[in-house]
Amino acid sequence: VKRVYAFGKDAQGNNVTEGNTDMKMILGGKGANLAEMANIGLPVPPGFTITCQTCMEYANADNTWPEGALDTIAEYRADLEERMGKKIGDAADPLLVSVRSGAPMSMPGMMDTVLNLGLNDQSINGLIAQTENPRFAWDSYRRFIQMFSNVVMGLDGDLFENAITAMKNERGVASDTDLSADDLKELVDEFKRIFSENVPAADYPALAVDGVAQFPQDPMVQLQLAIEAVFGSWNNPRAVLYRKKNKIADDLGTAVNVQSMVFGNKGNTSATGVAFTRNPANGDKEFYGDYLVNAQGEDVVAGIRNTSPIAELKEVEGLEDAGRQLEEVFVTLENHFRDMCDIEFTIEQGKLWMLQTRVGKRTAAAALHIAIEMEKEGLITKEEAVMRVEPDQLDQLLHPQFDKDASYDVIARGLNASPGAAVGEAVFSAAEAVALAEAGRKCVLVRWETNPDDLAGMIAAEGILTSHGGKTSHAAVIARGMGAPCVCGVEALKIDAEKKQATVTGTDIVIREGDMVSIDGTTGVVVLGAVDLVMPELTGDLDTILEWADEFRTLGVRANADNPEDAELSRNFGAAGIGLCRTEHMFLGDRKQIIQSFILHDDELIREKAVADLFAAQTGDFYGMFKAMDGYPVIVRLLDPPLHEFLESPRALDVEIARMEAAGAAAEAIAEKRDLMEKIDSFAEQNPMLGMRGCRLGIVYPILPTMQVRAIATATARLKKEGLDPRPEIMIPLVSVAPELAKLRAQAEAAIAEVAAEEGVELDIPVGTMIELPRAAVTADEIAQYADFFSFGTNDLTQTTFGFSRDDVEAEFVPQYLTERLLPFNPFATIDPGVAKLVKMGVELGHEGNPDIVCGVCGEHGGDPDSIQTFNAIGLDYVSCSPYRVPVARLAAGQAAL
Ligand code: PEP
Ligand code: MG
Repeated sequence: VKRVYAFGKDAQGNNVTEGNTDMKMILGGKGANLAEMANIGLPVPPGFTITCQTCMEYANADNTWPEGALDTIAEYRADLEERMGKKIGDAADPLLVSVRSGAPMSMPGMMDTVLNLGLNDQSINGLIAQTENPRFAWDSYRRFIQMFSNVVMGLDGDLFENAITAMKNERGVASDTDLSADDLKELVDEFKRIFSENVPAADYPALAVDGVAQFPQDPMVQLQLAIEAVFGSWNNPRAVLYRKKNKIADDLGTAVNVQSMVFGNKGNTSATGVAFTRNPANGDKEFYGDYLVNAQGEDVVAGIRNTSPIAELKEVEGLEDAGRQLEEVFVTLENHFRDMCDIEFTIEQGKLWMLQTRVGKRTAAAALHIAIEMEKEGLITKEEAVMRVEPDQLDQLLHPQFDKDASYDVIARGLNASPGAAVGEAVFSAAEAVALAEAGRKCVLVRWETNPDDLAGMIAAEGILTSHGGKTSHAAVIARGMGAPCVCGVEALKIDAEKKQATVTGTDIVIREGDMVSIDGTTGVVVLGAVDLVMPELTGDLDTILEWADEFRTLGVRANADNPEDAELSRNFGAAGIGLCRTEHMFLGDRKQIIQSFILHDDELIREKAVADLFAAQTGDFYGMFKAMDGYPVIVRLLDPPLHEFLESPRALDVEIARMEAAGAAAEAIAEKRDLMEKIDSFAEQNPMLGMRGCRLGIVYPILPTMQVRAIATATARLKKEGLDPRPEIMIPLVSVAPELAKLRAQAEAAIAEVAAEEGVELDIPVGTMIELPRAAVTADEIAQYADFFSFGTNDLTQTTFGFSRDDVEAEFVPQYLTERLLPFNPFATIDPGVAKLVKMGVELGHEGNPDIVCGVCGEHGGDPDSIQTFNAIGLDYVSCSPYRVPVARLAAGQAAL
């Protein structure tokens, strides 16, 4: 196996690079692109890269070297010395090297780097002689000891910083730069002493002299220890955490780049900087970045000195040539990588050196703008332009955000359940939220978890904050549907709704009703106080990219919406219909009274009146929906949830009865409440999610679906008479056996026929079902005989396939599953391969039962880019998602087709 790859030129100026940009899995991102830059003739300080695989072998063998690896490294080191005409550790003209990590995926700042390696008590003299700058040389040496001790030996950096501070105090100076060469020389001795005092000699026998560890003078020992430290940094806790958060595999390893040092701090014709080939914030075509004269790379990043804009570089005396050359490099890099690049460079005494390049990170707005401009410039194709934008990033563009320049303290964090930021007064009940909104005040609704009762408050509030529940909890699903910011599952928040306050565990922070709070649903952050918000600029670029994506995609995109405003919003975002209208969302507010009287009364007359009232209300609802979606399909799902969801909670009633008793209320009134409680109790189920819901409700109370179907048909007939083109479809939820659907379909068709006859209008309304139970998926051929369409309810299908309760799961064991990698991702957010198998089976069997069947998905997965890839591959006809996800889904579907 080849473990080491050279890059850069030899002594004669020939390129001897062995790698290239396609070798990121072997050489890491940095190593592969250093090789590529050398290959295209850019000035790269020569060096070599040790492979990622060597790192993994070393780590897997309990930090021991694979056979022969150290010999190979020694050969490449000798070769580098020959190419540079200098030797590491040489007393006359020493070669200094940097030792840097570089993983296949960018992991900024997570792993280790050692600079100025090769300095020792001999080579320091060579560096002084060569630079004629003793101060610079001693400063380099003390930096090296400090960095080596900290990074390689794990000593506390403060030990050294304290020594510097003590020295400054002694000299009566304020800044490091005021220390003289002699001071720094003294510091070097002091640093070596700190090293000996703190490194346990027993752990490093090779460094021990008379039982005391000495700072290594042998450059080869320095080099080996530094490489081992960089290897080891792959598994340091912050790198492990970063990989987990960014879904990067643990077995990739990091490469190590050993590279000749160039110095940006050799006087006023030296400089160092970082730059982008275009503006990464808005995508404008301009040179973007900062530089510092007479400085080292860390100084730019650390922000201790004020940097200057890169465009001015070519006007600085002594840096003109390098500045002009850098601009040429920008163009070369863009033409070569055909993308916006980010760059690190150093100018050493007027000569430009490239230290790193990679495809640059950018905001959503910049991603759109750059992709479109590059297509216009002929640099990339339309297909590539569509692939260049991260679908999830689009969310940034559709919601307000915290102002980047605002400063604030985060008091707690939760799940980023629904994007966008919100600011308002904290309120602890839906009623209070409604009251505030009516008074024209902005509020954030703070709840343990929300339930359907809270809907009015959720609509009234600017944003929703919960302490319990995951990304498919009620709060999260509803908030995403409304496009309202939501942070949920903030475990640290202890909410006392009675007292109207919340405390943050482990702190003395209290949020009281009326306190201003800010939440950022894009990041999951909670702030006490009002943070300034900004609306990201919506540009025509978004439309352009989405139209291009539409040209490629074959998967349809519809929206989940249950009111005319959301329907219209979905249309504006480009949805080609409504894939799911959840009618239970139409039964809240005043409607709740009506359905309650239906549920709670056995008296036929009262029930009939309730049904008639509901019919009138629903007809109006559907009229509005179909009108907003004129000419587009609207799938109306018949009532789904368990009836008791519409009733008051027995616990609340219990409390009320206790209060009435304490207040000495009339016995009759109390008895009445007791009856009510008993009645409600009779609807309680041990497992409501597996209970009397979905089509089961319609089988037991046929009057309800008939009422709904009649309302759908009536609204359709009216719109037709007005000359419009309503296209409703009726969907029956939670079917598990074909006869359920057969029965309800027949009933629906009879109701439609009746209305058609009454209204004198021809009505052709398709009837289909949701596939959201495993039994339905595996018997889809039978079910399809009664269905014009299938819509896969992947929320319930995930719940019932795993047997994980979708409402509780994320707060309990799934986080641990994710930490332990028992699950690769949350199956309620991204479709699980097992559940996807059932969907595939459902689609295939469905077509056996009915070749013309139309198949879509309407679970939360319909708006998730990774899941959209899967659904596209399965051959579904469309996905349906919340309105704000429609642009995301269009782009993801376009990408899935490419
Ligand atoms: C589903 O189960 O995936 C679905 C869309 O229905 P609901 O979320 O309303 O249960
Ligand atoms: Mg469902």
